This record gives sequence, structure tokens and C-alpha cells, in this order.
Amino acid sequence: MTNDKQPVCLSCGRAEDAIPLMTWRYQGRELWTCPDCIPTFIHQRGEMLVRWQAAQEPNPSTPSQGD
Ligand SMILES: [Zn+2]
Repeated sequence: MTNDKQPVCLSCGRAEDAIPLMTWRYQGRELWTCPDCIPTFIHQRGEMLVRWQAAQEPNPSTPSQGD
């Protein structure tokens, strides 16, 4: 578990000291993917963004997700 803010690839989790990372901006935040995972990001963007958003909010407190 790393608590520092070292960027890691959203998909494979590799850090920038292991592989070049590309920065994307989304909703005023940044996310990163490595070149290997860019195709995954393109083709499975929704799934990747769900994963990214989950990573942004470590507390699983969902105020209103009824229905
Ligand atoms: Zn990757």
C-alpha cells in the first residue's frame, strides 16, 4: 500500500519509474495510463473511469445510490 501520490497507470498499476505514463484530465482531476493500456482505456473507457473514480474515493460511503 502506497500512501504517496506517485502516479500509477489506471489499468496495470505500474508507476512512472517503470514505464512512461500519459496524463489525462477528467473532471478537474488527473489520471494516468501507460502506453500499453491506452487501447484498454479507449475501448473500455467506462469501466476504467469507474475504477478511477473508485480509487479517488477510498471511503465506500455512497450517500444516495438507491433504486
Ligand atoms: Zn498500464
